[in-house]
Amino acid sequence: MTKRHVLMTGPLMRMVMEQLDSAYEVHRLWEAKDRDRFLDAVADKIEAIAVGPHTPVDGALMSRLPKLKIVANFGVGYDTVDARWAGQHGIIVTNTPDVLTEEVADTTLGLILMTVRRLSEAERWLRAGKWASEGAFPLTPSLRDRRVGIVGLGRIGKAIARRLDAFRVPVVYHGRREQRDVDYGYYPDLVAMARDVDVLVAVAPGGAETKHMISTAVLDALGPDGILINVGRGSVVDEQALIAALRDRRILSAGLDVFENEPHVPAELIAMDHVVLLPHVGSASVHTRNRMGQLVVDNIRSYFETGKPLTPVPETPVPAT
Ligand code: NDP
Repeated sequence: MTKRHVLMTGPLMRMVMEQLDSAYEVHRLWEAKDRDRFLDAVADKIEAIAVGPHTPVDGALMSRLPKLKIVANFGVGYDTVDARWAGQHGIIVTNTPDVLTEEVADTTLGLILMTVRRLSEAERWLRAGKWASEGAFPLTPSLRDRRVGIVGLGRIGKAIARRLDAFRVPVVYHGRREQRDVDYGYYPDLVAMARDVDVLVAVAPGGAETKHMISTAVLDALGPDGILINVGRGSVVDEQALIAALRDRRILSAGLDVFENEPHVPAELIAMDHVVLLPHVGSASVHTRNRMGQLVVDNIRSYFETGKPLTPVPETPVPAT
């Protein structure tokens, strides 16, 4: 039987590559010396693309592949894939929802605690020998007297809220619409919510619609005791506005897992002691990454075997038959 052809735009986990290699003819775009000639040679064979977070799949690429039917994205966020274009041209985009939700929520709670209680700074204090030489680490802010506002109360946002419920920390949220099935207070206006909370947790998707949602106005509303946590996408926060707000102490601190130009993190942030910076590790456990990788493979396999992928994104719905 002839094998189906899959294009990979960048390397993915070994378990993904091995499974794809064993079932399909896989073409590795990132290894091509001449990208145009490489694409010309395989263009009329490719039916699927498997894509990771740092290799955009835009209309220009998809339009070169006349048989392309599915783009399987590794990650729940698919802002690097032009899903709208794909939907308009009969191409299905899939992502990896749910399998990473609890992991990212765990990481977020870790980041909130690290930031509010200044735990990274406290550890640096110990390692520098200051506990013995200078005494106890200074007293810190507390979660006890704080209210958390979640920007993007979706799958991950709700898992974060559930954890905060157990911590007995009040939660409110902002999104494009009120959700009738949740008990948390809803703010249609993000600035108004920022004014009323002490910790703002951004877990909204990237893309044009959310770009720089966390602006100077939002940070100023959060105020000098306010803490920003971002685990969604770097583009959601105006990074230069954030740097200025942190520098001028117009907000207290920030805990960030995502950045505007990853993996490059502004030197100003790295130089600041009162921020916690993580290298986009929200879902990065062996357990969860394996489940995400498997879902990429299973989406492609399911599409090839049944004509239906498992987890299409809303822009490219698969009609029920
Ligand atoms: P969901 O789609 O379940 O939730 C997204 C939420 O964002 C929804 O509640 C939606 O609410 C809200 N939202 C969307 N657009 C806007 C907007 N323009 N303004 C305000 N709110 C908006 O996604 P998940 O919870 O599964 O994932 C969320 C994001 O987390 C991903 O897109 C990804 O970018 C990020 N992520 C980060 C990871 C990391 O490692 N740091 C790992 C995994 C995901 P409504 O529709 O009501 O507006």
